[in-house]
Amino acid sequence: MSGGKGISFGQDNRGQQTGWIAFAVAEHEIRARDSRFTVIYRIEQAALAFANKIGHAEFDDDELALILGRELDLGGRKLAGESTVRKAVKDGIRLGVLLEGSNRRCLIVPQWAAQTEWSQRDSLCHEHRIGLRKHRRSA
Ligand SMILES: [Zn+2]
Repeated sequence: MSGGKGISFGQDNRGQQTGWIAFAVAEHEIRARDSRFTVIYRIEQAALAFANKIGHAEFDDDELALILGRELDLGGRKLAGESTVRKAVKDGIRLGVLLEGSNRRCLIVPQWAAQTEWSQRDSLCHEHRIGLRKHRRSA
């Protein structure tokens, strides 16, 4: 698991040894926003695109709905409906691509499935109140 020693999966959640493959964060975000893909695939891509070093991907109020929305023919984006977002989160948890406790404000990626050591990502979560005592939100 992560913790400052670089990416290492060791064993996965079935107790099997596993290696890893690098995938550009920007590519996950492109796929998350692409309405040609299914919503369940896109919410997993959104989680991967924004996950930090502890696997938490935080979103502002309508940010996830905007990502999971679609391009309008005349320009701009239509937000995904509240029920669509809620169902996508629920299905993500049911299928094991997101962890229990995920919601529209924070998607939690299982650390046995994906990890990042990208220096631009922190180890905090405001939604789940992790790591906040030592740090302040910079924004
Ligand atoms: Zn969180």
